[in-house]
Amino acid sequence: MTEQNRQLKEDLEKYFDSHMDEILSDLNDILSIESSFSEPKEGKPFGEGSAKALAWGMSQGEKLGLDVKNFNNYAVSMTYGDGEPVLGILSHLDTVPASPDGWSFPPFAATLSDGVIYGRGSIDDKGPSVAVLWAVKALQELNVPLSKGFRIIFGGNEEQGCEDIAYYETQEAFPPMVFTPDGSFPVLNCEKGMVHLTFSAPLDDDNIKEISSNKTINAIPDKCAVTYKNDEVSYNGRPAHGSRPENGDNAVTKFLADYKGGSALLKALAAMFPHGEYDGKTIGLGFSDDVSGVMTCALTCLNTENGRLTGGIDIRFPIDRTYEEISGIITKALENAGFATDECSGMEPHYVSADSPFVRTLLDVYEDVKGERGEPVAEGGITYVHNTEGGVAFGAEFPWENNNMHGIDEHISLETFRYNLNMYANAIARLCR
Ligand SMILES: [Zn+2]
Repeated sequence: MTEQNRQLKEDLEKYFDSHMDEILSDLNDILSIESSFSEPKEGKPFGEGSAKALAWGMSQGEKLGLDVKNFNNYAVSMTYGDGEPVLGILSHLDTVPASPDGWSFPPFAATLSDGVIYGRGSIDDKGPSVAVLWAVKALQELNVPLSKGFRIIFGGNEEQGCEDIAYYETQEAFPPMVFTPDGSFPVLNCEKGMVHLTFSAPLDDDNIKEISSNKTINAIPDKCAVTYKNDEVSYNGRPAHGSRPENGDNAVTKFLADYKGGSALLKALAAMFPHGEYDGKTIGLGFSDDVSGVMTCALTCLNTENGRLTGGIDIRFPIDRTYEEISGIITKALENAGFATDECSGMEPHYVSADSPFVRTLLDVYEDVKGERGEPVAEGGITYVHNTEGGVAFGAEFPWENNNMHGIDEHISLETFRYNLNMYANAIARLCR
């Protein structure tokens, strides 16, 4: 660490610690605004709450003296400096809904209890957004000279389709470097590509009355119930995110491995998706590379509907492959087994070089603030910057934390929130000084 960076890091720590009451008061203000998607209204494409949250973001930008723009309540941006900004920071002020049932604290407030801040949006993504705003304020009050511009972009629709960013991009270009505090530390620079596919065929086993499992394509099923003419069998597993099949125990492939009836379709599926295999090797996938690691392929849904057997597959593939190639292989394999593909969609992989000055600087900031070296991470999950060229996720949570994102008692520890403030302030200073 240079002497200049060391001094700034210390000054920032002191600044944030001495202003924490005000920072938490701002956090309480934005958490108080219920901003999940609601009925669209004239000029408010994601409803009243989302627009109100964006208005709050704008008012903060104005207080900081930034050049503030509202993109018809899809998103707002606030720019520092003359000329084209070099850095973009993309976060969102909408949240998933919350009902107070089951919460230990009110969901629409910031409650500090035992060193933990509770509230909907505290980790996703209002807490980190407040940290970014206060990072700017700290740099201003500490008179840190910035020679290059940056731009904060707040979206209002991350949780329900990301139409905010699709619209924003038609109006204003993203700066060449973009980070989002809507993922995980140290830096997520590699996001695998994705294929989501559903298929079906007329069920060819008269003994089966019903198969019922998960209906969410991006989740490993923890239950599969099979009703035979004279019997009923239920298979239990362990749920996991569709991009992390190795963390779960797939109840559908468990049933298929156990299946002893006469259905050629079910036997074919059992052969294609052996229980405990996570990379799709048997059907001709199983790809990996040094940057993204091993791909994943999971049969996540299996149900009967009006006499048809229907299924769903979640695939996350490495950065050296394409959507066309992977969807082609899986479609062909299903066709050979007698299934028709009903729907197929997905995304190409996303990658920013770990050797780029941008990623290297973020990793240096991580090391200096956290006191330990961090390595860039490849993810099967999709973040807010998946379709933004040059975009990486930088925080806001640490990989070992469970902050109940989207769940009851969503929270961020005061310690992690302090890290957010310090990481973002040091990052802006080093990338724009
Ligand atoms: Zn988020």
